[in-house]
Amino acid sequence: MKLFSVPSNRYKLDGGAMFGNAPKAVWEKWIPADEQNRIRLGTRALLAVTGKHVLLVDAGIGAYLDPKLSARFGVDEPEHMLLKSLAQRGFTEADVTGIILSHLHFDHAGGLLSAWQDGREPQLLFPNAKYYVSEAGWERAARPVPRDRASFVTLLNKQIERSGRLVLLKPDDILPFDDLTVRFFVSDGHTPGLLCPDLRWDGQRVVFASDLIPGRAWVHLPITMGYDRFPELLMQEKETLLKSLADDGGWLAYVHDPEMSVSRVQADEEHHTFTAVEEQPAFEW
Ligand SMILES: [Zn+2]
Repeated sequence: MKLFSVPSNRYKLDGGAMFGNAPKAVWEKWIPADEQNRIRLGTRALLAVTGKHVLLVDAGIGAYLDPKLSARFGVDEPEHMLLKSLAQRGFTEADVTGIILSHLHFDHAGGLLSAWQDGREPQLLFPNAKYYVSEAGWERAARPVPRDRASFVTLLNKQIERSGRLVLLKPDDILPFDDLTVRFFVSDGHTPGLLCPDLRWDGQRVVFASDLIPGRAWVHLPITMGYDRFPELLMQEKETLLKSLADDGGWLAYVHDPEMSVSRVQADEEHHTFTAVEEQPAFEW
């Protein structure tokens, strides 16, 4: 089993929206804002290669957005960076056997679509992969509420359904892939049915926290996003996951951190505050 960090395209979101009710004087020390108050973020995926399986966890935003939306979201790499990252590891999209999607928001699943081309609808990539999505996450993507409708990609949901390769997961499902076992820490605070894959192999543990803890700044318990549907619930879920990682020394993988892919977590004696330690920009296990 080998595990790699594989960057998809970078983008920008409004700093205020990403830090909920935290004042700018607090958050701009962590991530500086541009002239439009946007902060630069990564969209990072994981690549796990076992005996028979080539797995991705999330696909990032990719490059499917049209030029107007790409400009709005600061997607300034025109290439499909996830495909490029895979190629650097010697894989094509056809080699990928499974993709575990934490949820179906555009900045996590957009990378399943081909790069934007004038006059052509983006196509679903990864022709040999199963797409793993939680039942609750699929349900929310099919019936979003006005507050989160803009975060889903209707075209993508239709193409996934039509592929016949959608696998719906229940919260307690455990997926075995050769020597890798994937369990799920399920969180409803950001969006119902968010899956945080908990990867275990050979005494190692890496949890991909997705938008439960999107980067090091959000390791602070009270820091939540304006996009979170249930911020108080999210804080409780975050505390449970951080305690578990601080206790067993597992690694936390970040989807949107602008600089770091993983860290470990340190707790103070009372388990009230948590800090990211041993941060790494990229990794290869
Ligand atoms: Zn996100």
